[in-house]
This record gives sequence, C-alpha cells and structure tokens, in this order.
Amino acid sequence: MSKSKTPSVKTPQAIRGTQDIFGPEAEAFAFVVETFERVRKLYRFRRVEMPVFEKTEVFARSIGETTDIVSKEMYSFEDRGGESLTLRPEFTAGIARAFLTNGWQQHAPLKVGTHGPLFRYERPQKGRYRQFHQIDAEIIGAAEPQADVELLAMADQIIRELGIEDVTLHLNTLGDGDSRDAWRAALIEYFGAVKDELSEDSQERLEKNPLRILDSKDRRDQKFVADAPKIDAYLSDEATAFFDAVTSGLDAAGVKWKRAESLVRGLDYYRHTAFEFIPDEGSAAADALGSQSTILGGGRYDGLMESLGGAPTPAVGWAAGIERLAMLVGEKGEAPADATVVVEDDSLITEGVRSLGRLRAEGLSAEMIASGSPRKRFDKAVKAGARAIVGLSVQDGETNVRIKAEDDMTARIKAVLN
Ligand code: ATP
Ligand code: MG
Repeated sequence: MSKSKTPSVKTPQAIRGTQDIFGPEAEAFAFVVETFERVRKLYRFRRVEMPVFEKTEVFARSIGETTDIVSKEMYSFEDRGGESLTLRPEFTAGIARAFLTNGWQQHAPLKVGTHGPLFRYERPQKGRYRQFHQIDAEIIGAAEPQADVELLAMADQIIRELGIEDVTLHLNTLGDGDSRDAWRAALIEYFGAVKDELSEDSQERLEKNPLRILDSKDRRDQKFVADAPKIDAYLSDEATAFFDAVTSGLDAAGVKWKRAESLVRGLDYYRHTAFEFIPDEGSAAADALGSQSTILGGGRYDGLMESLGGAPTPAVGWAAGIERLAMLVGEKGEAPADATVVVEDDSLITEGVRSLGRLRAEGLSAEMIASGSPRKRFDKAVKAGARAIVGLSVQDGETNVRIKAEDDMTARIKAVLN
C-alpha cells in the first residue's frame, strides 16, 4: 500500500442502499445462486441474461403507473440522446419485452430463469436495499394450471434445498378478468364507506386500484382488510376450476400451501394465481427478517404482453430476493482448500506453481504458501486447515514432496503429482 495518499482527498462513500458483500455473507449469496442454478436445470428452465436498463415505458406500461414501483421507486434518467431510460426494478417486464422483440413465441411454452441486480428507490433498512438481487423464473405462453404448479414446485424445492425451514406458500386467486372486475367493485364500495379513515395512499388507490389496499402495509388500512369482501364470492366457474387444478396439482407434487384470501400482488398485471412464500409467524425465519417478510412472490400475468403491444400471451412467474434468502441460509463458512502447497525454499516456487496447476486441473482446490520465513510457512499451512498439506523441499539437490493428509487424499494427490 502506498503511503503517499493526500490527506485532503476524501474517499467517496458507497451509495446509500447499496451493499458490498464479502466473506460468509458472500458465500451465502453464492450458495443461493448455485442452488437456484442447479434446481433450474432439474426443471429444465433455460437461462437468459437480460439488460440492466430498458426504455422507461417498458416498466411504466407493464407494471402500471399507479404502483409504488412506477410512481416512486424507479431509477429513471435521460441518456445523452435524450431518451428516458430506467434501471430495471424487476425482471418480468424486460423478459416480456424480449419475448416480443425477439420473436420468442416460437419457443412457447418458454421456461426461463435468471438472476442479477435490481434497483428501487426505497427507504433502505434491514432486508431492503436500493440495489438488491433476485432469482427469477418465468413460464411464458402456457395457459394451463400445470405451469403454475411446475413453477411453484421449483420454488418450493429451491427453498427446501437451501435448508430454509418454517416458510409457507401463501396462495390466492385473483380470478379472471370478470371475477376481478366484480371483486373490484365490491372493494370500492366497502373501502369507500370508510374512506376518511384510510391512509392517504389508500384513499388514492380507492379510485385507481382498490385491490392494492389489501396489500397496504399501513396500520390504518390493515384494520379494515380482514373483513373486506373476498374474491371467492365473485369467482367465475372457470376461475374456480383453474384454482382447483392448481391446488390439486400442488398437493400431488407434495408442495404445502395455505389459502390467503387477502393476498394480492402489488402489480397491475396479475390474474388468477398469486402467491408469496412467507416465514411462519414466530419462527426463527420471521425473527430474522422482521417486517420484510416476503421472500418469494409472483403469480400469473396473463394481461402483461398486451400492455406492451403484443398478442395476448398467458404467463406465470416469480422472483425471490437473494439477500433475504441468504439471511435465512445463515452464515456459510468458506470451505477449506483440498490442498495447501508449501514451498520450503523460494527456488521451488516454479515447482510449486506446477503442482498447483496439476491439482487444480484435477478438480482439487489448492493454494500455495510461499512467503514469510520457511519455518513459519508450515505452521501457516496447518492453520489454513486444508485437507492435505503438500510440502516441497530440496534434498540432495532434488525436489522432495511430502504429503500430510487423510489416507485417501494422500494417494490421490500422489497420483496427480507424479
Ligand atoms: P415487499 O412487499 O417486501 O416490498 P415486493 O412485493 O415489492 O416486496 P417483489 O417486487 O415481488 O417484492 O419482489 C420479490 C422479492 O424481491 C421480495 O419478496 C423480496 O424478497 C425481494 N425484494 C423486493 N424489494 C427488495 C428490496 N428493496 N431489497 C431487497 N429485497 C427486495
Ligand atoms: Mg416493494
């Protein structure tokens, strides 16, 4: 490190709501992504990589102007060409845009998964950031309830394979267009009668999208939510049959679920199935996450493609916050190396590098210790806790290799290095 740093130059701070993830937390983050990738392949979802920014209208039109995301959380800016662009606040809208602009209809039903950073201008707090990360899965061009079942079975398996316990799938249906409209009218009447007691936000929602009052985190609204009209009274026969097929499919797949009649998703584009995985009340998971309790959410968005100018295309998807999943995974230690190579003498560094190369080529993780006093190097290697220590020294003008390890490792390393 240089010592000539000018004291008058201040180090810039990180942007509020961003994170520098390191150590055990970074390992937990990686574990979430690796588990997602493994399970994604089991379910035969194809990988996609999406742009981090899109034209603002991609999000404004598909997510809905009255949502929290579009009305107050987007990072939008004009680029040098004067075009309004937005850092993606979610994956679905961009994937839908890509489906239309690339003609991915030919692959329908298309099962895709991705992960990466998202940006929302929210008040930073525990489990809530301005740059956060999600894993995301979508099935586009599938109208059947089996698609919902498959998508939820994958979510459930990922959470189980992460070792996360006491998290339950909360499931609701928002019905088809007709059911939703009738329910909406009933909600306007119900909440309209107590309008003055609602939060300012919900008074506004009453006109534009009363469903969203059910989603409110404000106590003044929550008081009235429990007794609000339920969707079941307004479901068409078709919508009922669809929901029955989803729930019996989940039962067959062994996915536990719980009906949540007030569950709506914040976004405009949802129809039929809506769901969230939420830690059980009083569980360690709930304690760890505090009020930011939803770890995975999604649903069916049959109306989205039309809002982007595409043909009606049924689809269903979910997203889960990697940070929140990682918090529940707990600290993941960094795994010790398979082998630590110690060179007793600096003249052996080249030999050490050669050994490292061979070990790594055989799929063994390895590091070399080649600094500090020769006597202390071996102690350092012991401390590092690798499964094997490979000591290189010079004896009678020749390189001597000593291996200290469990038996099976000794034989394996000998075979690699010879
Ligand atoms: P919330 O109700 O917590 O605001 P949301 O409905 O806005 O969540 P979605 O848009 O459905 O969340 O995103 C899915 C998941 O992404 C959430 O369940 C959560 O795990 C994660 N998530 C959303 N916003 C943030 C954020 N600002 N910081 C960290 N994780 C987030
Ligand atoms: Mg939110």
